[in-house]
Amino acid sequence: MSHTEETAVPVAAGEEVVVEVEGLGHEGEGVGRAGGFALFVPGALPGEKVRAKVRELKKRYGCADLLEVLEPSPERIQPPCPVFGRCGGCQLQHMEYDAQLRWKRKMVTDALERIGKLDLGRVTVHPTLGMAEPRHYRNKAQVPAGTRGGRLVAGFYAMNSRRIVETDACLIQHEMNNRVVEAVRRIAAELGITGYNEETRSGHLRHIVVRTGFATGEVMVVLVTNGERLPRAAELCERIAAAVPGVKSICQNVNTSRTPVVMGDRTKALWGRDVIYDRIGDVEFAISAESFYQVNPAQTEVLYRKALDYAGLTGAETVIDAYCGIGTISLFLARKAKRVYGVEIVPEAVRDARRNAQLNGIENAEFVAGKAEEVLPRWRERGVAADVIVVDPPRKGCDPALLDAIVAMRPRRVVYVSCNPATLARDLRVLEDGGYRTVEVQPVDMFPHTGHVECIVSTHFTG
Ligand code: SAH
Repeated sequence: MSHTEETAVPVAAGEEVVVEVEGLGHEGEGVGRAGGFALFVPGALPGEKVRAKVRELKKRYGCADLLEVLEPSPERIQPPCPVFGRCGGCQLQHMEYDAQLRWKRKMVTDALERIGKLDLGRVTVHPTLGMAEPRHYRNKAQVPAGTRGGRLVAGFYAMNSRRIVETDACLIQHEMNNRVVEAVRRIAAELGITGYNEETRSGHLRHIVVRTGFATGEVMVVLVTNGERLPRAAELCERIAAAVPGVKSICQNVNTSRTPVVMGDRTKALWGRDVIYDRIGDVEFAISAESFYQVNPAQTEVLYRKALDYAGLTGAETVIDAYCGIGTISLFLARKAKRVYGVEIVPEAVRDARRNAQLNGIENAEFVAGKAEEVLPRWRERGVAADVIVVDPPRKGCDPALLDAIVAMRPRRVVYVSCNPATLARDLRVLEDGGYRTVEVQPVDMFPHTGHVECIVSTHFTG
């Protein structure tokens, strides 16, 4: 956003102001101005005039709580979920779905222009590919557990807080996940298992994590505990297995850290297997508790098909899949390529990737555990010359050393999958300067009703 500081009338914390909302911020909050001063107002939509109370002031902007919508946007709707606004999980349920899709595209074009300094006259940014039915799309629930009035509770963190909002009917979760979380909470409570207390760091259960394979119906339950001790664990597992059809794996993950990170680094299977299976398209995947796996399977297939399209494979290519997770994109591409190399930092995910290659009878894919920015230069020294490189980094984007290594290897195409338009734009600038022209950008709505935007980008080496 541009600043008009010279003319800005300062606002004071606690003051009530009228805000003209112009856009949406990274967290789906309304962004607007009061007296020329920039304010973030969660719950307000672009085009609206709202009354808000200033909560917090920084030098260049402030945050305000929505009090009243004076002039509503025609895109405003009644949020379908009863806990919307209290639960921090969704940010855009008060906006028509088509309007969400349009805004997500705009967030992408804004970032490409402002941060990436791309000439949008030369880049095609397609309309966001949305879902026909944007509900119950998530395959993974991570629900914090706590204790209230001596009772084990589970729900979601309230907006900007660590307070647990109890709910057993999340609108974006697969209904199976909602049922399983509630069954686990109820059985654990009956067995005297206590919820974690962040202040005293006491209690057994920190999180209930449930993952459901949409294609297979297989369910994994991960009990994240505050230490090794989990009373009556065997009985707990037997009862969960009896109550939950489809459960194939119950694991315990130990997390004793003070940080809000959900999982610790030790996991063991308590009951059944240590993985569940799922399918995307006709590729089958084994997924273990600690591995990254896309949360929206329907849109993942849309995304991976685009990856295949943008890779432009004929069967003769060498492909590198950096940040490969459990090898999902690698295996999707392997059938159309000569050889695929995947690199991923989490060793368990690499183990899953190798197992997944075997599971699908794919013999031309090889996986290495390590940092992409360190492994790629080593491959290059060994004489690996990729025709296509796919990157799918976490929100912070690619490490600069990786971008250097890509430019040095000079593949014909780089396909960039991103969950953060800002770091995507930053990295595309580096690739552009290294001779890669951004050709097409396809936003894909992986996270309906949230402020998150996923994109896939096709770039070609033009020298
Ligand atoms: N392409 C995969 C996973 C993408 S998520 C899929 O679609 O499922 C990003 C992945 O990058 C995660 O699995 C994370 O563990 C991994 N990662 C994070 N930093 C990394 C690094 N420096 N080098 C390699 N992998 C990394």
